[in-house]
Amino acid sequence: MVANRGEIAIRVFRACHELGIRTVSIYSEQDRRMMHRFKSDESYLVGKGLAPVPAYLCIPDIVRIAKENDVDAIHPGYGFLSERGDFADAVLEAGIRLVGPNPEAIKRMGEKTMARKAATEAGVTVVPGTPGPVKCADEAYAFCKEHGVPVIFKAAYGGGGRGMRKVNKLEEVKEQFERATSEAVAAFGNGALFLEKFIVRPRHVEVQILGDKYGNVIHLYERDCSVQRRHQKVVEIAPAPNLDPRIRDAITQDAVKLAKYVGYENAGTVEFLLDSSTGKFYFIEVNARLQVEHTVTEEITGVDLVRAQIKVSEGYTLPDLGLTQDQIKVNGSSIQSRLTTENPATPDFTPDTGRLDVCVSGEGMGIRLDSASAYSGGFVSPFYDSLLVKVIATDKDHPNACQKMLRALREFTIRGVKTNIPFIVNVLQNPDFVNGSVDTSFIEENPQLFK
Ligand code: ADP
Repeated sequence: MVANRGEIAIRVFRACHELGIRTVSIYSEQDRRMMHRFKSDESYLVGKGLAPVPAYLCIPDIVRIAKENDVDAIHPGYGFLSERGDFADAVLEAGIRLVGPNPEAIKRMGEKTMARKAATEAGVTVVPGTPGPVKCADEAYAFCKEHGVPVIFKAAYGGGGRGMRKVNKLEEVKEQFERATSEAVAAFGNGALFLEKFIVRPRHVEVQILGDKYGNVIHLYERDCSVQRRHQKVVEIAPAPNLDPRIRDAITQDAVKLAKYVGYENAGTVEFLLDSSTGKFYFIEVNARLQVEHTVTEEITGVDLVRAQIKVSEGYTLPDLGLTQDQIKVNGSSIQSRLTTENPATPDFTPDTGRLDVCVSGEGMGIRLDSASAYSGGFVSPFYDSLLVKVIATDKDHPNACQKMLRALREFTIRGVKTNIPFIVNVLQNPDFVNGSVDTSFIEENPQLFK
């Protein structure tokens, strides 16, 4: 069973069907006609009478459906319940296997200051910051006075780029503390905040890791996710272009070191900020789940991460699966564009919804499409995130992958809803992007991308 919806549910079903495993989907009342339902062998309504998002968060109902239908294992996808320790507990208590890390790892990595502590203990450098959550604005002020600004408030239970507030001047501490607290309460039901030094113009470099139940951990190299809008990833690249091989070695080794230290099992991502001016990199967090951008890693390594997740959860060792470190080789370069039904002509990228009257996708050699609704007649509902299709372009190196992506994006014809294609086309044509030299300030500092 996949306790999720949309493209990621379909992604997992595909891996299951290749392994000869029968599949179960769940769907909310609003998702009655959603494609993921029809890509599984069986499908059941979840969270009857609940609102669209809470339906997929209804742990008792999900466990009920799983038990009634003899489900052996649940894959949580990303978002929704994927990083909820209480969900992992509930699944295991029901005697069902979870395709993901064990609940202890999920809980330990889910609270960012605990993850920072584990990283420090493992000998991995974290962004300088407070050891735990700050209790009040005065404590935050004292930290800023001692360590200097800029700093950034971050939600201890945060995710998706929300609940983050930069502080440029000491006078702003109180106001930003209050704003970030209320944002964190609204988004995560918990207002706990901690402080980190703000790293100026870093690259976001993250390492894909995979562990089995017996303490073996490997990495599958890194991704660069520096192209972000409001701290949210838009375009991801693997491997990170122009990365000094010594930094690549050090960062991947650190990721494995941390994963081994916490006994990490299954797939996960260790995220770092890289200060290109000094070559220093700092741990920021672990995502204890499959990520949206796992695709680019699959393309360059040839490893099906979802299949590996399932096999590892069944108890296979990484060597059983042919997944020892020296068997992981990088081949070529891959880029993922997150095509969304957001209107880039509006300042806030207002989400557009409705029927796709026409949808013709870019295809051809080296293009992979992961989607649930990118087809003529497909429907984009207002209730969930606006991801329409992940377009993945793979070629021998980064500049060629850029050309391939551009060519594919130009083949798309979508009528009925607005998409961010024009914006991504601008990104792909930017010389700094093609050179592989962008950092996380790229979108903010290039207003011409919005034209
Ligand atoms: P989330 O869990 O919400 O995704 P992350 O901790 O992964 O939050 O950070 C998301 C993005 O925010 C990073 O990729 C980076 O662009 C920015 N960011 C986070 N922490 C810092 C920092 N200390 N200095 C500068 N930028 C930061």
